[in-house]
Amino acid sequence: MIEIHNFDVVIVGAGGAGMRAALSASTQAHTAVITKLYPTRSHTGAAQGGIAAALGNVEEDAVEWHTFDTIKGGDYLVDQDAAAVLTSEAPGAVIELEHMGLPFNRTPDGHIDQRKFGGHTREHGAAPVQRAAYAADRTGHQILQTLFQNCVKNEVEFFNEFYALELILDGARHGYADGQGAPAGQAHAARHGYADEQAHAARHGIVAYELATGKLHLFAANSIVLATGGAGRVFKTTSNAHCLTGDGMGLALRAGIPLEDMEFVQFHPTGLAGLGILLSEAARGEGGILRNNTGEAFMVNYAPKIKDLAPRDIVSRAIANEVREGRGCGPNRDYVYLDVTHLPRDVIDAKLPDITQFARTYLGVEPYTEPVPTYPTAHFTMGGIPTTLNGEVIRGLVPSDENSRVNGLSEYQTVPGLFACGETACVSVHGANRLGTNSLLETVVFGKRAGDAAAAFALSQPLPARLTRDDAAPTAARLDELRNRPRGARIASVRRALQETMDQDAAVFRTEETLHRAYANISELRHQYRAVAVEDRSLIYNTELMEAVELGYLIDIAQCMVAAAKARQESRGGHFREDYPNRDDKNFMHHSLTYLLSPASDSGNFSANRATQQQIQIVKKEVVMQGYEPMERVY
Ligand SMILES: Cc1cc2nc3c(=O)[nH]c(=O)nc-3n(C[C@H](O)[C@H](O)[C@H](O)COP(=O)(O)OP(=O)(O)OC[C@H]3O[C@@H](n4cnc5c(N)ncnc54)[C@H](O)[C@@H]3O)c2cc1C
Repeated sequence: MIEIHNFDVVIVGAGGAGMRAALSASTQAHTAVITKLYPTRSHTGAAQGGIAAALGNVEEDAVEWHTFDTIKGGDYLVDQDAAAVLTSEAPGAVIELEHMGLPFNRTPDGHIDQRKFGGHTREHGAAPVQRAAYAADRTGHQILQTLFQNCVKNEVEFFNEFYALELILDGARHGYADGQGAPAGQAHAARHGYADEQAHAARHGIVAYELATGKLHLFAANSIVLATGGAGRVFKTTSNAHCLTGDGMGLALRAGIPLEDMEFVQFHPTGLAGLGILLSEAARGEGGILRNNTGEAFMVNYAPKIKDLAPRDIVSRAIANEVREGRGCGPNRDYVYLDVTHLPRDVIDAKLPDITQFARTYLGVEPYTEPVPTYPTAHFTMGGIPTTLNGEVIRGLVPSDENSRVNGLSEYQTVPGLFACGETACVSVHGANRLGTNSLLETVVFGKRAGDAAAAFALSQPLPARLTRDDAAPTAARLDELRNRPRGARIASVRRALQETMDQDAAVFRTEETLHRAYANISELRHQYRAVAVEDRSLIYNTELMEAVELGYLIDIAQCMVAAAKARQESRGGHFREDYPNRDDKNFMHHSLTYLLSPASDSGNFSANRATQQQIQIVKKEVVMQGYEPMERVY
């Protein structure tokens, strides 16, 4: 039996973004949080280094310098209005966390301490600046605990270990075939025989699987917020946990919503070699140095001014280049060293305790005395579900001629009552390359904005949402079909092949040839996915069944990433095309919106593509400029 729940606001995800949204929404509206992990296990808890804010506690700093660094760091693909919001609201957001009880490291005079991080500079690039507020190398963990405790205090209702399987938008559950979408409300109203479409124009729902019981639940709400985190598991070598399968992005794609800027994936320079587990940039912020096989501190050759503290895209390419040119370390010369041996042991213990322990545990290396083998690891999804500054999900652009543009830009078509925030969203503060410590900041600044907007929208609706069990019936049928499917391809094999394809052909360096190969491989894997089968046929705690669902999202997202990367014939930020090594502002100073077009159908499986051949449409979206002219990006 499908259980029905009614709320004003339903938030999917209990990481930094989801819980910050919940704190705002729950003070105004009846709010639920659905999360596939227990909240304090969300991946925000893995964030190590810090959260950016121009507090100026340790040395002079300015919000405007932070804005400039964010835009330049993103290789000018950042929406400049969004960067201004992020950076100007940063000091207030960090102080708010402090007041909620977050135990930040302190300066001797009792202020929040701050450290250096890549790409954060004073006076527009003159020198690195100490801008990252931090709690040792457990900043995300402390943020997550603090937000959770405050949510509990505010009596937010959590549904833990519930997997969102389906997003029901008014009339849009099975996706729009044209990539433009239909007016919200029409189809749903027609299906339910409502006379007044407008009054019923915001009835959304989430169908979720409860791990502990195997039961399906239908959550109806006027506002839904997607805050499901990133999609790093598209790659094999990644700093992301197994749960980061891009579920919110997959749900959005299936509902006919595009993903923005998916070609831009961040590879963090210092993953533990061969494993991908992250060693935070904080190690270099505290004075760590990258060295090649001659012991040379090679970053001076790539970023003469700020060297090891250059932005991540530049450092990752530098490391990959050292290895390619034979200057890598180890028996296979396939990594470089991160050297902190010159740092005092008490500094390592006080400021980098977790990551140095990772080196001991996973590689058997003692960082006090030995350099640590490192290589770039897939880390962050710059792209995601496109949103406005208040987290409203953008479905597309309103067709316009020059005369009907607002401030010179196309108008957006949003989905009323649908919001997104955090890593799953793309409000475009990171552009082509995120600066370290700007992501935790994004979760709290835009989580709050999305929570506020979701509550306001829900409360402005004349009627509460009203869905019936019939709305969840197709999901139940699909899940049953998947669970009871006769023998077929193994989920782990298809997933491994996908991840290896992405590592090999769509990682730090890309060409038309590698991307073409990746696209063909993904299409073949999509074909295999249609016949995957699970061995566990039980209803309760069926994590294998959930992995099968997640694999559908991974395939869809990988295909969007590769298609968008093929279309962008230039190099910018984290997207480096060896066949087009320069940035090309004339032809590519625009965002990409990638739509998966598939025939609407109730049958098939948990992937937007219920046909084997996926059609992809890529639409250009303008970059919002507010006075920062694109310049050559040198450090
Ligand atoms: C190792 C590491 C270190 C990092 N260090 C830093 C740092 O120092 N500074 C910084 O700014 N950034 C850092 N980042 C990036 C930053 O941590 C993340 O971008 C950010 O925490 C993402 O938060 P989120 O709330 O969007 O997602 P998450 O914290 O990943 O939360 C996602 C939530 O969605 C839920 N969910 C997902 N799918 C479903 C589903 N189908 N149904 C129900 N629930 C679902 C999950 O249960 C979870 O609660 C780091 C990232 C990594 C991987």
